[in-house]
Amino acid sequence: RTAMASLRQGPGDNLHGGLLVEGFDQESCHSRYQSAMYRRNPGRQPSEHLVSKLRRHEALQRRCGPGTAAYSDALEQLKSGKNAASPECKYLVSISYRGLGNRILAAASAFLYALLTDRVLLVDPSNDMGELFCEPFPNTSWLLPPGFPLWSFNQDTPERYGRMRENGVLRTDVSNGGSPANSKAADMPAFAYIHLDWNQTDHDQLFFCDEDQRLLSNFQWLVMRTDSYIVPGLFLVDTFRQKLATLFPEPDAVFHHLGRYLFHPTNHVWGLVTRYYSAHLGWAQRRVGIQVRVFPRSPESPELLERITKCTQKEGLLPRVVDTEEPAVTAAPPTGAGRGVKSNAVVITSLKAWYYEQMKGMYWENATAGGEVVVVSQPSHEEYQHYGVKSHEYKAWAEIYLLSLTDLLVTTGKSTFGYVAQGLAGMRPWVLLGQANGTAGNNRPPCSRDVSPEPCFHIAPLHDCKRRRDSGKIVPHVRHCEDVPTGLKLV
Ligand code: GDP
Repeated sequence: RTAMASLRQGPGDNLHGGLLVEGFDQESCHSRYQSAMYRRNPGRQPSEHLVSKLRRHEALQRRCGPGTAAYSDALEQLKSGKNAASPECKYLVSISYRGLGNRILAAASAFLYALLTDRVLLVDPSNDMGELFCEPFPNTSWLLPPGFPLWSFNQDTPERYGRMRENGVLRTDVSNGGSPANSKAADMPAFAYIHLDWNQTDHDQLFFCDEDQRLLSNFQWLVMRTDSYIVPGLFLVDTFRQKLATLFPEPDAVFHHLGRYLFHPTNHVWGLVTRYYSAHLGWAQRRVGIQVRVFPRSPESPELLERITKCTQKEGLLPRVVDTEEPAVTAAPPTGAGRGVKSNAVVITSLKAWYYEQMKGMYWENATAGGEVVVVSQPSHEEYQHYGVKSHEYKAWAEIYLLSLTDLLVTTGKSTFGYVAQGLAGMRPWVLLGQANGTAGNNRPPCSRDVSPEPCFHIAPLHDCKRRRDSGKIVPHVRHCEDVPTGLKLV
């Protein structure tokens, strides 16, 4: 370890080992420099390469971002309908849609892609993105300014990259000299739209191929629509692999670093987080987070409840309860004030209150084997997913963040809400497998420990670009996910 690294890693390091930069106005975003104080686990250290790359990228965002002459020029160029031949600055616009977990994963993915390709990242402010997150880059904004022609981007957009590849408007075949045959940048459309939504085609997935990345590098503007964590797919691209290995010597901590760098709750959300934390979590010796992802119409499931209680007790995450007939250790009388008794605080997040009520009741009506105290709480039960309702979004973000502040985490498989929490914490969660209606295979254990804290890339390419190899067997750190077997994750 270098002297610089040791300095950065001292206790109380509120900059996460240099991941964050000093100099932001503290009042404008309390969470940025306070969040480290709420985590018992200090998390992983970023590499020096990542730290210096971030500083260079921040300078790029300032030099080319909204309000600069470079940005005005680029916008004019875009409106002209023609691509710039050798632009000063290149841009990536990330569209924000679907649930909060999805939007966070998409923005993190777009940021990494921007980092790898030296593009300025601009995030579509839809769905309260500006109200939920502080600005990540000093002295500039990552929000796409009003006035940007955000036409509707969808499968039918003529500039959809997959479509332009399919109909031959863009080709990667190599002429003598090694440059793509029709890559004369000025003859290309003003932008390419990368469609990686659920209905993407094989042609859209060419995005994850080397030669296509070379072609894409010629566009001044890219617009990306995805609700996925596409990062494992970027590890499959040869041109990126070496850079990624240098930036992230620990591939299972990619989202951990990106997430802690980018997503700082705004002051209102931070109030929700810290008030809840102090009242319900901070005092406990052990804090356990349980994410129960249910859907508005799914019925209360005693099977799922049983899986949660079995998982937490079998894996030793929470004290075992004894039958009401068994002799129990009684709680210490008030004068002893709980001396020697281990205290556990459990935070449950869910759209429904039922699971929380059952768990709370269980630890009241039954003693724990060693007399330990278990206090169960749940911040909200919103019942439905509300779209475009600020207070709902604030709560969702606060709850994801609270889960990430626990010591042990149980999540529901397939849920991006849980992925974000585990990634921010840098923890491998225990994953409840099976459906929300409780149907797991008969002999399956109630939960299984995830192999890494990384999110799963759900709609990943199934093969390499030559269609010869299974995409989960190309590089050692990219594997199929347990919760979504066709997905890919970094381990
Ligand atoms: P996913 O659908 O599980 O992958 O997670 P998303 O975050 O993308 O979308 C689910 C949305 O439903 C969230 O963003 C919230 O709006 C809402 N939601 C789901 N579970 C919870 C929860 O436990 N607490 C709160 N407050 N909202 C939730």
